[in-house]
Amino acid sequence: MRVFKFGGASVKDPASVQNVARIIRNQCGNGPLVVVISAMGKTTNALEKLCACFMEGQRDGMFRIFEEIKVRHFDIARGLFSDTDDAVFKVLEQSFYQLFYYISEAPGSNYDYEYDRIVSTGEIVSTQIVSHYLRKQGLVNRLYPAQKLIITDAHFRDAQLDWILTERAIKEQILPFLQEKNSGNLPLVLTQGFLGGTPQGFTTTLGREGSDFTAAILAYALNATEIVIWKDVPGLLNADPKIIPQTHLLKNISYQEAIELAYYGATVIHPKTIKPLLSKNIPLKVKSFFYPGEPGSVINDNASHDKEIPSYIFKFNQVLASIFPKDFSFIAEQKMARIFADFAKLGVKINLMQNSAISFSVCFDRDKTKTPALLRQLKKNFNVKYNEDMELITIRHYENVSIDSLVRGREVMMEQKSRTTLQLVVKQAEALVMHAQDSESGPSA
Ligand code: ASP
Ligand code: MG
Repeated sequence: MRVFKFGGASVKDPASVQNVARIIRNQCGNGPLVVVISAMGKTTNALEKLCACFMEGQRDGMFRIFEEIKVRHFDIARGLFSDTDDAVFKVLEQSFYQLFYYISEAPGSNYDYEYDRIVSTGEIVSTQIVSHYLRKQGLVNRLYPAQKLIITDAHFRDAQLDWILTERAIKEQILPFLQEKNSGNLPLVLTQGFLGGTPQGFTTTLGREGSDFTAAILAYALNATEIVIWKDVPGLLNADPKIIPQTHLLKNISYQEAIELAYYGATVIHPKTIKPLLSKNIPLKVKSFFYPGEPGSVINDNASHDKEIPSYIFKFNQVLASIFPKDFSFIAEQKMARIFADFAKLGVKINLMQNSAISFSVCFDRDKTKTPALLRQLKKNFNVKYNEDMELITIRHYENVSIDSLVRGREVMMEQKSRTTLQLVVKQAEALVMHAQDSESGPSA
């Protein structure tokens, strides 16, 4: 049994959906298949905007975005189904009507709850289209609502998985179907990525790009032999090609290396994806949906190639803060405990840290609301200087790397080296603003 995940780019238009069907068809005979599908193209972004309008009472904007999303999906469906009476149109009409009805009412006060209720529509309509299309192509399949498989707590927008309930739900619902003796067709299961549901039946989401995690959860619960994430790139690359023109394919890295890369901010795979696979030693492949015959990349327990190619991870919009005790005393453990407590309280993740006798320096993501709140909190006990608009460059396996071309003459504000990883904080291209601790001008909110 294998699990496939198709992201937004792989189902963004009729030709892409046809390609997905071709890939699935070519797998016939290779045993049962569970397919996880994301929202089409950039639908999730559009639904996020719709949700913001809904919450702010901008009804004109909201209905305009609603119409755009609806029209786009009907266009895709019309591109796939020549028969305008196909059942898919009725199903889509219903899903969009449900959303329309929902947003016509006044919003509740819980943003994250409303977000999950609204944004989940993207995956729901996407799987409806793909499921109907596959069926039309003779690929009999069963579509399972993810809300009944992926059982989570009610932490909307960042729902935490209940592994026990989830494993049970997946096994109870999917296993009997996979074991059915199908005539001809391989058993084919479809479900939505990214979505979950509480035991009470409320829809939740797992965090942006969470579909990879959904695939890993299913692979874990069903003891899959492998999972394949289909992407518009040839596999795992050693850098973002939008930033570095000359990238290399990482043909094989270990689970540990993948976790490290995700930790430092590589966005190839959702960070939560690897752990469940590692614990059952299920290999994860990343393959191109343009070239399905190419091997792509594999993440498994083989670490022998991890050091062969350096990987680059760039994080922009970083804040570099230096924190000083107000009495110029040393930065000792109690002071650090105080600082960490402030970061933990405000939910700010530290990307890099370093201390000297009288100061503690930290690099973290800039956030419109969290950063000013954190700085205010820190300033109660410390003097704080900070720079915004910083860039954090991480290089894994940096031994033979020339950093000059990365730094490009910019001042290195902080540098840290371990045996495997080099990290540099440099000024981002634009002008830098230095805020003294007493200055009135806080970070842009
Ligand atoms: N559609 C969701 C997103 O764009 C989930 C995913 O694609 O993994 O974040
Ligand atoms: Mg996506």
